[in-house]
Amino acid sequence: MKVAVLGKVDQKGLSFLKENEFKVIEIENFEIQNLKEQLKDVDGILLRTTRLDKEILQHCDNLKIISRHGVGYDNVDLDFLNENKIALCITSTSNAVSVAEHVLSFFIYLTKNLSLSDSLVKEGNFEKRSELPNFFELYKKKVLIIGFGRIGKEVAKRCLGFDMEVYVYDPFLDNEIIIRNQCIPIEKNQGLTIADFITIHLPLNGDTKNFISQTELNLMRKNSILVNTSRGGIVNENDLCIALDSKKIQGAGMDVFVSEPPESNHPFFKLDNILLTPHNAALTLECRERMSLEASQNIVFFLNNMSELNVENLVNKKYL
Ligand code: NAD
Repeated sequence: MKVAVLGKVDQKGLSFLKENEFKVIEIENFEIQNLKEQLKDVDGILLRTTRLDKEILQHCDNLKIISRHGVGYDNVDLDFLNENKIALCITSTSNAVSVAEHVLSFFIYLTKNLSLSDSLVKEGNFEKRSELPNFFELYKKKVLIIGFGRIGKEVAKRCLGFDMEVYVYDPFLDNEIIIRNQCIPIEKNQGLTIADFITIHLPLNGDTKNFISQTELNLMRKNSILVNTSRGGIVNENDLCIALDSKKIQGAGMDVFVSEPPESNHPFFKLDNILLTPHNAALTLECRERMSLEASQNIVFFLNNMSELNVENLVNKKYL
């Protein structure tokens, strides 16, 4: 059987596919015409972030499974997959820890003046060390976690480790689950009003687009810090720029953007109270290895031995 791997992935997954006698083609040219030609006869696709819409998918005559290298699947036409009984899998056990550590890195960086402190020492301004602005502890601060799935729960554990008060907004979960995880359930607007830190862990869909816009930013405290490692578009970028520029909120950390990479003149780039990372929250070495292997296992198990597949990874099982 033949598998197309779209984008670079760790060798571990590629080896697993080959050991199981799958023919692997690695594709780096994502132009639509090339994809239509190369994907025509593949049985499976291991997919990073390339968009796969109906326009391309309808040319895949043999396709039985798409396995995402990650957990978000807003880059795939899920309706088309469901209508055509093509499986969609994710790597549900691979990336929560890596993203959660990234969130805490944003919190620390944005409250500890790491970059400014480094410059003070290197530029011979050691004696100015008491003058740094916005230098805070996480201890006893309130954090609001929006979306309490795999990643939200890992973020909560780490915040509790810093002795933060952890509030959770996730109306799709029983409050019991939130309380069992030593967190406090709260409504969206109330949470936004009281939180010092807000971190978002939602899927991108019609309900979550612009989930944080001007109205929500206006509710936030002046000292608050907003972090988004979920998907671009869940936070309205223009509204966030205005809030940061006018110091309506203290700072933000963004790993994801509406357009990736962002335009070279993106207004975020002029702000000194935002930290940007290139959608790499899940790209630690360990996580890349896990995602590559889990995504490959999904394909091999789905096509060869269903009993070994982690059913939690199969997004659209009811359509198959
Ligand atoms: P998950 O499905 O385990 O959790 C999502 C949670 O959001 C669920 O508990 C759900 O009930 C909740 N939710 C859904 N809609 C909501 C709404 N309207 N209001 C409040 N809560 C809502 O997903 P996860 O594994 O925690 O990942 C979350 C997102 O993070 C993914 O969808 C993906 O887009 C993104 N992600 C980004 C990176 C990165 O590299 N930056 C890596 C992994 C995942």
